[in-house]
Amino acid sequence: MKNLPLDLSESLRKRYLTVRNNGLANVFKVQDEIISSIRAFLKNEGFTEILAPIIGPVTDPGIRGAKQVTIDYYGVPFKVMSSMILYKQMIITALPKVFALSPNIRLEPLETVKTRRHLTEFRQIDLEVAYATCDEVIDLGERMLCQVIADVKAKCCKELGERCKTLTVPKRPFKRYTYKEALEILENMGMKVNYGEEIPWEAEEALSKAHMEPFWITNYPATARSFYYMESEESPGVLKDFDLVYPEGFGEAISGGEREYRYERLVERMRRGGEDPSQYGWYLDMLKAGIPPSAGFGIGVERLTRFICGLENIWDAVPFPKVAGIPSP
Ligand code: ASP
Ligand code: MG
Repeated sequence: MKNLPLDLSESLRKRYLTVRNNGLANVFKVQDEIISSIRAFLKNEGFTEILAPIIGPVTDPGIRGAKQVTIDYYGVPFKVMSSMILYKQMIITALPKVFALSPNIRLEPLETVKTRRHLTEFRQIDLEVAYATCDEVIDLGERMLCQVIADVKAKCCKELGERCKTLTVPKRPFKRYTYKEALEILENMGMKVNYGEEIPWEAEEALSKAHMEPFWITNYPATARSFYYMESEESPGVLKDFDLVYPEGFGEAISGGEREYRYERLVERMRRGGEDPSQYGWYLDMLKAGIPPSAGFGIGVERLTRFICGLENIWDAVPFPKVAGIPSP
């Protein structure tokens, strides 16, 4: 394998030694509190926790250049979940407010090692709310993040060490930029991003570094994101979706939005995005049968841990890290 930092590869392959590092033990104690806090918060908001799927006939295609993993399921090709988005749209027909601690696999390109915030195996708290709007789940996300930070500061100051002083509960409401505004700010910072494309990782990191509080980027162009986000009626080509970005250079925290739930529109979006509808068997059958509109988001647990603990590297925010190109335990 070329172009990998050798010492990183070495230390991840010897995790059975490096995991004993005291600093890591503290991180995992904080992580335990983060997970407990989110669960308590969401239960209190009326959410039901469900068990996440791990494999299925199709999974989230919107994974920015990462590759899905396919396994042989009794002669049928099955995907390992890259995210459970399609399943969230299924379960809200039965339970209107759901979440799961969902394990995901995305075979990220090798260069993601340099972002220090990409794992190939990660977990997200993935939630969905029937009949909700973007504004409602944005509000929920803000309150959740503030609650988690307050809980961790109250219970884990010792484990956080110096970070306990610099980590503060953000002021609500968080700042919101549209994708278009974010591109303008980046242009003023001397970084050119083409309208219609994803904001590159370095540009997003620069924007994140320029902020001391978390902020939202809303309304990405349909060409940059997957078919399951609802397109705006007033501005075709613009989505009702959002990312939350952590401050201080920590980068992306959350992706989410309102969902396209209408069969005809969705097939049209798939075609426009170059997806083959015939690959989406049960999902399209489900939309034909009818599902409610909904909104939701996913927040990466390891990235949240990295931000809260103030860690340089995402691989220190998980006991058994999997980083692109490194076959570690
Ligand atoms: N499926 C999205 C992701 O994994 C999250 C969401 O839209 O709920 O990034
Ligand atoms: Mg995302």
